[in-house]
Amino acid sequence: MSVLDTFRLDGDTAIITGGNRGIGKGIARALAEAGADIVVANRDADSGAAAIEEITAETGVDGVAIPVDITDEAKVEALVEQVSAEFGSIDILVNNAGITYNVRAEQMELDDWERVIDINLTGVFLCAKHVGIDMIENDGGSIINISSISAYIANHPQPQVGYNASKAGVEGLKTQLASEWAKYGIRVNNINPGYIRTDMVKDVLENDPKMAAEWKREMLLEDMADPDSIGALAVYLSSDASWYMTGESISIDGGYTVR
Ligand code: NDP
Repeated sequence: MSVLDTFRLDGDTAIITGGNRGIGKGIARALAEAGADIVVANRDADSGAAAIEEITAETGVDGVAIPVDITDEAKVEALVEQVSAEFGSIDILVNNAGITYNVRAEQMELDDWERVIDINLTGVFLCAKHVGIDMIENDGGSIINISSISAYIANHPQPQVGYNASKAGVEGLKTQLASEWAKYGIRVNNINPGYIRTDMVKDVLENDPKMAAEWKREMLLEDMADPDSIGALAVYLSSDASWYMTGESISIDGGYTVR
């Protein structure tokens, strides 16, 4: 088998949380181009269905959009049951859904703190737990968490204490899951993007050129990346090409954290 063949995902099924837009949609498209059937799981039903229609038409794979709030354990369990029943088993989980509130630590309300932790950390755990149960029964798979360089660094100039704490939590979650589940053939790795042009940073790009310029000043590669830029790494971590890699975190940030 050639090295490029080891990147193929034909016959695999992938769930991508937040696959309706931004980084998640870019990853969903990349996994579909590599041959995987895809399940887009996010809250908004219309944009989820539109993403599935677009990507399956482009690539010819099967796909379905299943609306879900990843903080609701019963809904996550139902998602996994539905995908398992429709596609046989789940081979890939991309835990991508996430939010941020840019609020100074001393002004952050408990409700906002809990919302960020609920979605970015507890939601990631719930999806990993229920997909993990399916993978344990079905000879393993690959779990990829879209974390962030914020797991390791202080962001500036924007304040985002809840976000950074949640992503640091995903770092610990990944390490422990990789350790507990290696014996079941489940690999768990994190992707840590830097600044990517999505709705998450749209407000700054449109209304705060000074802050955007500060971000860009720290990048060795001089500019922000488009959401599709994360897809190739997700294909690698989903596929047999990365069979010997687990418990790792890979930054893809234009050199931001190196400078
Ligand atoms: P977007 O704001 O563009 O998209 C966020 C996604 O998360 C949407 O698909 C949204 O679905 C989904 N989502 C939010 N809450 C829930 C929930 N409770 N249940 C299900 N889905 C939910 O973000 P990005 O594409 O920028 O971010 C994707 C991931 O990448 C996040 O984890 C983020 O932290 C990370 N990241 C982003 C960076 C960037 O610069 N953009 C940098 C580093 C990391 P819906 O539309 O239905 O609400």
